[in-house]
Amino acid sequence: MTVVPGGAADVIVVGAGPAGSSAAWWCAQAGLDAVVLEKAAFPREKVCGDGLTPRGVKALDDMGIDTSPASGWVRHKGLRVQGGGEVVEVDWPTLSTWPAYSVVRRRSELDALLADHAAAAGARLHTGVTVTEPLLDDAGRVVGVRAESGPDKEPIVWRAPLVVSAEGLSGRLAKSLGLVRREDRPLGVAVRRYVRTPRAHDDYLDLSFDLTEHGPSRDSMPGYGWVFGMGDGTANVGFGLLDTRRSTGADHRAVLRDWLATFPAEDHLGEEFAVTPLRGAGLPMALHRQPAYTRGLLLTGDAAGTVNPFNGEGISSAMETGRMAAETVADALAVPAGPAREAVLRRYPARLGAAYGRHHRLGMGFLALLSRPTVVRLATAHGLKRPVLVNAALRLMGNLTDGWTGDATDRVVAALTRLAPAV
Ligand SMILES: Cc1cc2nc3c(=O)[nH]c(=O)nc-3n(C[C@H](O)[C@H](O)[C@H](O)COP(=O)(O)OP(=O)(O)OC[C@H]3O[C@@H](n4cnc5c(N)ncnc54)[C@H](O)[C@@H]3O)c2cc1C
Repeated sequence: MTVVPGGAADVIVVGAGPAGSSAAWWCAQAGLDAVVLEKAAFPREKVCGDGLTPRGVKALDDMGIDTSPASGWVRHKGLRVQGGGEVVEVDWPTLSTWPAYSVVRRRSELDALLADHAAAAGARLHTGVTVTEPLLDDAGRVVGVRAESGPDKEPIVWRAPLVVSAEGLSGRLAKSLGLVRREDRPLGVAVRRYVRTPRAHDDYLDLSFDLTEHGPSRDSMPGYGWVFGMGDGTANVGFGLLDTRRSTGADHRAVLRDWLATFPAEDHLGEEFAVTPLRGAGLPMALHRQPAYTRGLLLTGDAAGTVNPFNGEGISSAMETGRMAAETVADALAVPAGPAREAVLRRYPARLGAAYGRHHRLGMGFLALLSRPTVVRLATAHGLKRPVLVNAALRLMGNLTDGWTGDATDRVVAALTRLAPAV
């Protein structure tokens, strides 16, 4: 079969989820010719809770995306946390680094919007193109990708001095260079469906630590459930088990059914009100694939395992790492190919480590605690009664502080984080 040359670019970005579109947008801003290859066609589904914490809002703001309700975003001012018989509403903290609200947006819309935004900035977006393997030079360095284009799977080759993998959990390119997932890192799993419900408009995002094993033991589980009102007559309901290494193989559908049965019947959250099937996917955490740079390939988002172990949030870090990769690519291409460029590129994994390493290490400790039902019961029953503790936990878990320049709570969180070794 003839291989069609796709062309050449300064950088190839593989995947147009939040990580890829962010990488492409920041590359385009830096004046680089970025080509984005995405296997799906937009709009496309992505199994997700659709929630963007203030960190996610900031990453959108930084790309000039208007997150006002008038532009279709649904805002929430905080969380309603349930656990051990307690329910508490806690507002997002008012900080100078992060906005004080979160947003939800269906991933089918969010990802199409981000891809369009990158294309509008000058990135060349090609959908319906599945990247199959890296193109290597004689020294084994990545100099492009091989792909299949369109329904006929036409073989195609794209060339660039640098490639950004934003492929999500599969991380096919990384794997083919020997970067496999670290088994000592947590891998979560989460499921969700949309339901038609009167609970679609709410100022607070519902979270619950009252998930229980379905069956005789009825132990609490290392994760949480959510109900996120989408503002359009539907809600995204689901739950995440944050560490599958500690899972007992419980039936996800039954766990969700049992938990949703604890809500009032008139909320219409059960399966009978579903408008989509229950679907699930993995949550790769704690920088599970390292190093995040090798031989011309940079890893971003889920491909690098940047999901926050405390809460399963991965959209914000996908966009943040997309930006970090783009900045690294721009700096690297500004110096001649060879040792000087390589030195710039090798700093990228350290940048990810500095941004997330210690926080994710603490998160791994949190997951270990979460797997002990008695600790969860005690912490939720007693902790949720104390607003100062809830507020501090929200900042710690969401990685939402002003750091050393912040208030006393922020400084305690910063001190705690500094004590943790990076993952
Ligand atoms: C049930 C569930 C609920 C979640 N809820 C939340 C939440 O509420 N908030 C939150 O912040 N995070 C949540 N997450 C995590 C979040 O979905 C991910 O962390 C996030 O999508 C990662 O973004 P990404 O750009 O790295 O990868 P992805 O979003 O997975 O995007 C990867 C893209 O690459 C494309 N691609 C893959 N392979 C190839 C290839 N070979 N060639 C070309 N294209 C390719 C894919 O089609 C896709 O478009 C949830 C996850 C799950 C499973």
